[in-house]
Amino acid sequence: MSESLHIVCPHCHVTNRVASERLSAPPGTVQMDCGRCHRPLFAGEPAVLDEGSFVRHVERSHIPVVVDFWAPWCGPCRTMAPAFAQAARTLEPSVRLAKLDTEAHPAIGARHAIRSIPTMVMFRQGREVARISGALGAADIARWVRTAGGA
Ligand code: ZN
Ligand code: ZN
Repeated sequence: MSESLHIVCPHCHVTNRVASERLSAPPGTVQMDCGRCHRPLFAGEPAVLDEGSFVRHVERSHIPVVVDFWAPWCGPCRTMAPAFAQAARTLEPSVRLAKLDTEAHPAIGARHAIRSIPTMVMFRQGREVARISGALGAADIARWVRTAGGA
């Protein structure tokens, strides 16, 4: 029985409907492109969000969304960036990884009470289900996401 899931495009942020079995296929075996911008729905890299696209991804995605709250002046954030990108390649397409620059978009950080960075927050169906602060390596990011029920 096929179920259709809402997947938000990481490029143009429009909501696509994708059959659930396509998401459970081995990574890299199924090409899924956005119906509007025709770019890959899963590009093996974190989506870069602003206020508007943050709300779209968090509220509309049927898969968990893990947001890395970071800032350009934060050394540990910059150190973690390649590990977070590597975790995206490991965890997609069962999870969406995304980044929110708290310096460029402070309202989102304030709304979610981000007190230190980097902080990763997992959202499901618009609600926060887990968070962790401090820089992690790729394997620890993937482990935390799976333990939190994200993959
Ligand atoms: Zn698109
Ligand atoms: Zn902004």
